Amino acid sequence: MTDPDIAPSLETSISPVEKYREFLATKGLRLTRERSIIVEEVFASHEHFDAEQLVQRVAHRTDGRRVSRSTVYRSLNLLEEAGMLRKVARQDDREIYEHEYGYPQHDHLICKKCGTLFEFHNEAISELLDEIARQHGFRMEGHRLEVSGLCTTCSRPPATRPKKLNLL
Ligand SMILES: [Zn+2]
Ligand SMILES: [Zn+2]
Repeated sequence: MTDPDIAPSLETSISPVEKYREFLATKGLRLTRERSIIVEEVFASHEHFDAEQLVQRVAHRTDGRRVSRSTVYRSLNLLEEAGMLRKVARQDDREIYEHEYGYPQHDHLICKKCGTLFEFHNEAISELLDEIARQHGFRMEGHRLEVSGLCTTCSRPPATRPKKLNLL
């Protein structure tokens, strides 16, 4: 038996742009050119990002696909409301976002010092939370677990770092 594909993304029936268009329609809003540029940019790669990084990517473009800072911020709120993005952490007073749409359930280890986010998925945790929810007569739809601490690099005491060999 071969391993099933470990898919980085879930199959989504409609594209993020179409999903966003449907959500906007329920609010009586249109998918403007600027809004579609943002949703395309956001879903071009699965990476954690903060609002300022997105602003930098779209506010200084020279290809005519430039979007203002205020539109970026408003769009992030709309995408979150649409259930397509979620805030995963806060670092230096900046919200870190990631895809909610089309990406499998996972949790995060967050380094307090360098801010690196490590993703992991553990079936046993999901089953345990399911069990806890059941005991409370609670129907779980998802969860969000953040483990804070120090990553390998940041927890390494400086004294044990290997000294650079002097080859001269
Ligand atoms: Zn670190
Ligand atoms: Zn993540």
